[in-house]
Amino acid sequence: MPDCLFCKIARKEFGSAVIYENGDVLAFLDINPRAPGHAMVVSRTHSETLLDLPDEALAPLFEGVKTVTGMLQRALAPDGFTIGINHGKASGQAVDHLHVHVIPRFTGDGGGSIHTVVSNAEGRGWKARPKDSFSPSLKASSEAHPPKEALEEMAARIRKAQ
Ligand code: 5GP
Ligand code: ZN
Repeated sequence: MPDCLFCKIARKEFGSAVIYENGDVLAFLDINPRAPGHAMVVSRTHSETLLDLPDEALAPLFEGVKTVTGMLQRALAPDGFTIGINHGKASGQAVDHLHVHVIPRFTGDGGGSIHTVVSNAEGRGWKARPKDSFSPSLKASSEAHPPKEALEEMAARIRKAQ
């Protein structure tokens, strides 16, 4: 894709701090890192989201994510990682070339978990209720959560779309 920023970075027409590359993928540091070593892994094949990435490009992309995560672990010894994709404009995707963020995490770094990104379950018709039902782990938390039947209904709806 001629005008795509990350295609240009992958073709080396636009500079970036490359940390890993092979014939299929490139990994480079985010220009505006949220943590030391914040990297992004991209396929050399242009696609906007996972849904239009050709199947044969999937495994190389996630092999790249694993390789880069190992490199960051050895280089920076973080205590963990947040690995994720802003997938589509509603989720905050700013660059229209699929990229996987690999963000080193350090104990006490002040960041949240993926659970802190959005809290909209009730916006989709689930009525939360206090901790009284099936999950022992949730019983220990103070968060309300949807009833078991609501989760089962949602799972059935999604299975039908396979
Ligand atoms: P998104 O919000 O689309 O998931 O993230 C896009 C990321 O690309 C942002 O974190 C932003 O800092 C990074 N970015 C935008 N332009 C450039 C650039 O020219 N070079 C590099 N290395 N990163 C960029
Ligand atoms: Zn592209």
